[in-house]
Amino acid sequence: MNDVMTALSARTSPLPQFIGAEIYRGSTYGPWHPLRVPRVSTVMDLSRALGWLPPAQFITSPRAKTAALTGYHTAAYLAALQAAEAAQTVSDAVRARHGLGTPSNPVFSEMFRRPATAAGGSLLAGELLKNGGIIYSPAGGTHHGLPDRANGFCYLNDPVLAIQSLRRNGAQRVAYVDIDAHHPDGVEHAFAQDPDTLLISTHEANRWPRTGAITDQGAGQVFNLPVPAGLHDDDMALILHELILPAVTAFRPDAIVLQCGADAVLEDPQSRLCLSNNAHWAVVAALRDIAPRYLVLGGGGYNPWSVGRLWTGVWAVLNDHEIPDHLPDQATGVLRALRWDGAPKRLQPQDHWMTTLRDAPRHGMIHDAVRSGVAQLKPRIVGA
Ligand SMILES: [Zn+2]
Repeated sequence: MNDVMTALSARTSPLPQFIGAEIYRGSTYGPWHPLRVPRVSTVMDLSRALGWLPPAQFITSPRAKTAALTGYHTAAYLAALQAAEAAQTVSDAVRARHGLGTPSNPVFSEMFRRPATAAGGSLLAGELLKNGGIIYSPAGGTHHGLPDRANGFCYLNDPVLAIQSLRRNGAQRVAYVDIDAHHPDGVEHAFAQDPDTLLISTHEANRWPRTGAITDQGAGQVFNLPVPAGLHDDDMALILHELILPAVTAFRPDAIVLQCGADAVLEDPQSRLCLSNNAHWAVVAALRDIAPRYLVLGGGGYNPWSVGRLWTGVWAVLNDHEIPDHLPDQATGVLRALRWDGAPKRLQPQDHWMTTLRDAPRHGMIHDAVRSGVAQLKPRIVGA
């Protein structure tokens, strides 16, 4: 038995666990914000409509206590965030220092409780994975949060808290893989100099937050691959097989955290990447059996149909459920009930958004920038 098999056999929980909560249903960052759309509630409803979410696999996310958040965030920031939720307003000084009450991180009614619930899920995941297993928390993945300030729609950084929790619970070496359209600046900030945390990110070049240069090395374990507009499934397959899998495998992680942001698909309004959801599912599947602990988080994703379909498919992949070509009525009902006020003109709802989970694959010639970027990073993989 090789090491991976030994590690996998240590898993005590045979079924993947889904961490969710009702706080995400109906909560919104405001009528003009990209996060005005439902996301996690759609995944829960679709998964239940398909018979994929029995009570034995669902865990209601606890809300993190403030003290549990101080592993990454400052006490002053946490106090300001709670005060802002209570008062539903912030002073100019708080806005300037902590980034609260801004267009991207507005004051809204659950502005502490909602991210603290996602963070509670990530902290719990680290504990539940102590003896191995697979956990999916689509509300997680808020990878831009900084210690003392909100950033990029993120109030808290639950991926950082998840990695800290995994480490407290026995996972020394953690591989963090991030396929969101945006660079995880908050996670790199936390772990760039930690040789026990592998950081791999693909993100659209020249897009906010404009961090994540290919030349970043951290302690030698930081791999940033900026990708060109138009990135398609064949590009991502090359990245997966030539960069992500060799790097993760060579690292011999005790745990893998995948941030599976859904904003790199063609129908998302916040990027110019053109993946289909098949690309994300391929990454989810490929990373599933490499380490004894596997935590899959959400992230970006601003088209209510594409994010709901993609993230429900992630749960199917984790459970080996076959994805039907056509959804049953109860599931199409969930999708037909969604609304997207202020949708961009190019993204008017299409019929297959209502009746399927799987997109048509998006093939193409490999972009030169993808090939050259992978070639530049590959020699840095230790042992490859
Ligand atoms: Zn993003």
